[in-house]
Amino acid sequence: MTLHIPFDNSYAALPDTFYARVKPEPVKAPSLIAINDALARDLGINGLDDPNLAALFSGNVIPNGASPLAQLYSGHQFGQYNPQLGDGRAVLLGETIGTDGIRRDIQLKGSGRTPFSRMGDGRAWLGPVLREYVMSEAMHALGVPTTRALAAVRTGEAVVRERPLPGAVLTRVAQSHLRVGTFQVFAARGDTKALQTLFDYAVARHFPDATDPASFLNAVMRRQAALVAHWLSLGFIHGVMNTDNCSISGETIDYGPCAFMDSYHPETVYSSIDRYGRYSYAAQADIIVWNMAQLATALLHLMPDPEASVEPFTAQIHTMPEMIRAEWLQRFGAKIGISSAKAEDAALIGDLLTLMQTAEADFTNTFRGLVDGTARDQFIDPTSFDAWSDTWQTRIAKEDDPLDRMRTTNPVLIPRNHQIEAMITAAVDGNDAPFTRLMTAYATPYEVNPDFDDLRRPPAPEEVVQATFCGT
Ligand code: AMP
Ligand code: MG
Repeated sequence: MTLHIPFDNSYAALPDTFYARVKPEPVKAPSLIAINDALARDLGINGLDDPNLAALFSGNVIPNGASPLAQLYSGHQFGQYNPQLGDGRAVLLGETIGTDGIRRDIQLKGSGRTPFSRMGDGRAWLGPVLREYVMSEAMHALGVPTTRALAAVRTGEAVVRERPLPGAVLTRVAQSHLRVGTFQVFAARGDTKALQTLFDYAVARHFPDATDPASFLNAVMRRQAALVAHWLSLGFIHGVMNTDNCSISGETIDYGPCAFMDSYHPETVYSSIDRYGRYSYAAQADIIVWNMAQLATALLHLMPDPEASVEPFTAQIHTMPEMIRAEWLQRFGAKIGISSAKAEDAALIGDLLTLMQTAEADFTNTFRGLVDGTARDQFIDPTSFDAWSDTWQTRIAKEDDPLDRMRTTNPVLIPRNHQIEAMITAAVDGNDAPFTRLMTAYATPYEVNPDFDDLRRPPAPEEVVQATFCGT
């Protein structure tokens, strides 16, 4: 059979100031690493036995119905406004409406140069492609809103970074690739007409109930507050929360030097480019407010009297920290077995985190250990934990089925950095078995499976990954 993607493209129908029409650049010798059959089915794609999948998902063959383009956007990178970014190494093939009725983008990443490539080669190497594949699918299995991975292909070409490395292309699926930076670019150019078109498009696609910029902003803030609280509850650090990597739909997007924390410390940073900890674990709750303030600033241009709207928009942004605190309280409350945590429960959660920080306890294993009674083993001096545990037991005695709640909020497995690095090293040597194994293990992260006990182990001192690197 031949692959059939039921394209229904809406972005390509927007004015041509929104993108550059560009085709993927062919690669030398594509070979398929992975195809996500379950996701393909959900997207309404069939013909997965097509012998040409590698050619299709590398961009060598453009599937029927695609209207390839590179999207324009800008953004604040580490606080500095960059007036033009855009898809420098990605091409949107088009959209499909899934079996759930939701429209999604299908995008090739690493597919060659575009008018937005600046100095880049438009390519990706195998490491970041597999990292994004595994991380995004693991996040999905953990229940976190995220872009998905549909396919990964080796290009058969080398990509030169510090040294020549095998090239690859990822096929990414997203509810859309609209970013805060998509709004910023038109606002900065003073192109109010394009901004209004974008606004109407984003409302129709994501927030049909939003009636004006203020209610739209509120809807995006709610999704982002929920998303960041969800990240925090799993020890996830995005690493590059630039406004161009901040999705309007509220999905985790642009997996670069992201990582899950092993031992708990709120100031943890892995990204090699985040020298001042702007995007550290705990800073994520503050920086998302900053990012939403940038969205608000762009939306001001849509108001009849932008000057007069500064004050109400500012007041609206100031409601966001409380939104995040409320989401955080529910997420962490559930992790210790509480069904609808109250303000007075925050201290119980905070006390545990303080003990964990002092003990350098493993984040994932401590919380999961509350279910099976091994949490105490994480503490060198368990007496302080025992005292906390007594108070905790008293509190959850009032709850129905606290253990069930904890089993579904405290994963057994997270994609640990050292496992991801080992998987990439093997794949560079042509061995994809670790990739396949991790994909199987992370598909059911809340289940205990003795086959994957080794993946629960935090890194030994010599295995600790000190820094993660961007995909560029
Ligand atoms: P990212 O780090 O993926 O968020 O990318 C930031 C910006 O740099 C985006 O505009 C990318 O398209 C662009 N970019 C990243 N890597 C490359 C590359 N290898 N070639 C061209 N553009 C790139
Ligand atoms: Mg990006």
